[in-house]
Amino acid sequence: MYDENCLFCKIIKGEIPSTKVYEDENVLAFKDINPVAPVHVIIIPKIHISSANEVNSENSECIKIIFEKIPEIAKICGVSDSGYRLVNNCGEDAGQTVKHFHIHMIGGIKVGEKLL
Ligand code: AMP
Ligand code: ZN
Repeated sequence: MYDENCLFCKIIKGEIPSTKVYEDENVLAFKDINPVAPVHVIIIPKIHISSANEVNSENSECIKIIFEKIPEIAKICGVSDSGYRLVNNCGEDAGQTVKHFHIHMIGGIKVGEKLL
């Protein structure tokens, strides 16, 4: 369920503080400590899945639940109408630094049409 060496698992357990914007039994969303935009929230499942590469039929329910909660989290963050970008980094080439599956919700600026 948890990985004791994982930073985001420690945030879930309350061992490391975070600024929570949404929480339920399956999902936690908190402000990124190093935001790249006025709205930059990290959305994570409350079970440890190290990356998108590790999603499978046994653990995908929590990923589905995350996506069901995204409209509500966007509303809380005030970007529901203006729009936002969702980003998942998987592995080295993508620059994944925390090995717990997460989605960045980025908004409050015009990120534009270019992906990179
Ligand atoms: P990634 O590069 O996709 O793995 O994203 C990891 C994100 O976690 C980065 O944007 C970091 O700024 C963010 N981050 C790292 N430590 C913390 C923390 N203690 N609280 C909130 N966000 C964090
Ligand atoms: Zn974890």
